Amino acid sequence: MVTWAGVVPDLDGLGIIAERLTQNSAHPLNWWTYYHHVLGHNIGFAFATTVVAVIFASWKFKTALLVFCSFHLHLIADLAGAGGPDGDQWPIPYLLPFSNQWQLTWSGQWALNAWPNFVITATLIVAAIVLARRRGFSLLEMFSRKGDLIFIETLRSRFPIVPVA
Ligand SMILES: [Zn+2]
Repeated sequence: MVTWAGVVPDLDGLGIIAERLTQNSAHPLNWWTYYHHVLGHNIGFAFATTVVAVIFASWKFKTALLVFCSFHLHLIADLAGAGGPDGDQWPIPYLLPFSNQWQLTWSGQWALNAWPNFVITATLIVAAIVLARRRGFSLLEMFSRKGDLIFIETLRSRFPIVPVA
């Protein structure tokens, strides 16, 4: 649930499918243009996500705290490194649906395709693989427990854990 909370704000980007499919029609649906970084990137959606997680969580307080932090880590990452290559900033209307006052941006924001995002992504993928090998589970468990077991088995047979002498 914590991992899902870190990606769930971008559900508002699914409008890109309708937008692309209708872009040459008489009535284009500009859902991605209008709603991405709006519907899911705000405090209201953060609260809704946290409430849903708490409903299904065994450890309610710990899950609520981590889900709320994970959600906000996504927003911080967007503020830091999700700018347009042309320098265009993508404000986050943080207080929605309560207010439209705060349109968060950061003047130091780098572009989505800039090198820091590649370095951060590569570093986190390596860290995720190292942790998966050590702990015996990976993020694949969100999709398939069996697939995750096969992945861990493969990792451990390819890179065996050597006991310290
Ligand atoms: Zn986002």
